[in-house]
Amino acid sequence: MVLPSFQVLIPSSLQEALDMLDGHPDARLLAGGTDLLVDLRPAVIRSAPFVPQGYADEWGIGYQQEPSGPLVSLHGLEQLRGLRSLTSHVRAGATTTVAELASSPLLRKHLTALAEGAAALGTPLVRNRGTYGGNICNARPAADTLVPTVALGGTLHLAHKNSTRKVSVVDFVLGPGRIALRAGELLTHIQLPFFPRQGSAYLKLGTRKALEIAQVGVAASVVLDQAGRVVHSGVALGAVGPTPILCHGTAESLHGHVPDQAAIRAASLAARREAAPISDHRASREYRLEMVQLLTRRALTRAVERARSAAAPGEQS
Ligand SMILES: Cc1cc2nc3c(=O)[nH]c(=O)nc-3n(C[C@H](O)[C@H](O)[C@H](O)COP(=O)(O)OP(=O)(O)OC[C@H]3O[C@@H](n4cnc5c(N)ncnc54)[C@H](O)[C@@H]3O)c2cc1C
Repeated sequence: MVLPSFQVLIPSSLQEALDMLDGHPDARLLAGGTDLLVDLRPAVIRSAPFVPQGYADEWGIGYQQEPSGPLVSLHGLEQLRGLRSLTSHVRAGATTTVAELASSPLLRKHLTALAEGAAALGTPLVRNRGTYGGNICNARPAADTLVPTVALGGTLHLAHKNSTRKVSVVDFVLGPGRIALRAGELLTHIQLPFFPRQGSAYLKLGTRKALEIAQVGVAASVVLDQAGRVVHSGVALGAVGPTPILCHGTAESLHGHVPDQAAIRAASLAARREAAPISDHRASREYRLEMVQLLTRRALTRAVERARSAAAPGEQS
């Protein structure tokens, strides 16, 4: 890939990275670079003599200028890496790779939807390079780890030179490529709660099995009480709105019910009503609505099965 020249700053600690951001208001963060470096490329394509200006505009390329400031690399910062299980939640460092999420026994057991989302992202090469934090901060409505994070109620931890703060992932993602990250801040880690008798699943619809941006993605999480009733649920839809959509109506329709087929069907219909898809080159609005309903039903069915089998032996299933 041909790239414009740019400067990369390589901090050796989180504090040094935050100082660099503070000293360079025009700096951008570089994690795996699988989105960022692609973003930087159009500046070269636009200036290439073999791409006529009209085509560059029509293809939507050329909107990025050469980076005006340096890139601050997060690559060597050990504090931002890895998954840890704490009493009631998993702490995922922002630079944990997508491949690590996909293969984590911890996630497979407690937060399956996130492991499945990670496994569905790109190719092995992209998963080995791309990071969880990068997928969230790139804020694409179809992002395969972002959608499960919304369903699972993820909280993002952000650090600034002089302070830290927490924000729910739902409030963080404002629109395609737009996030509530303030100047000088970076995402350090993501906190994901987990519960006994919880099950979750992620399903992605594309026309190919690999290297496909979702036409529709659905993540579902269900927590049951000892009697097998839903005490908490989260359903998030990807690629059917400007941001992943957390379906409040779907959660309300399930709350307090034993999630049998009728309850799941009603919840899937509620999800369809909450989707706001457009028609584009990947799929029509009508097809996406149908698929939201179908995938929500399947994802909820899987999540409920997993929640039941997560119940302690002898408990109601
Ligand atoms: C061939 C290919 C296929 C792909 N397929 C898919 C797919 O199927 N599904 C999918 O969801 N995505 C896909 N992607 C997109 C991409 O791989 C993911 O979004 C990836 O997880 C981004 O992580 P990264 O570490 O590479 O981010 P980077 O490119 O380094 O950064 C992305 C953005 O996030 C910001 N950022 C990164 N880390 C932080 C942080 N800690 N704090 C604040 N801001 C930060 C950067 O400044 C930049 O704006 C694909 C990409 C390619 C090239």
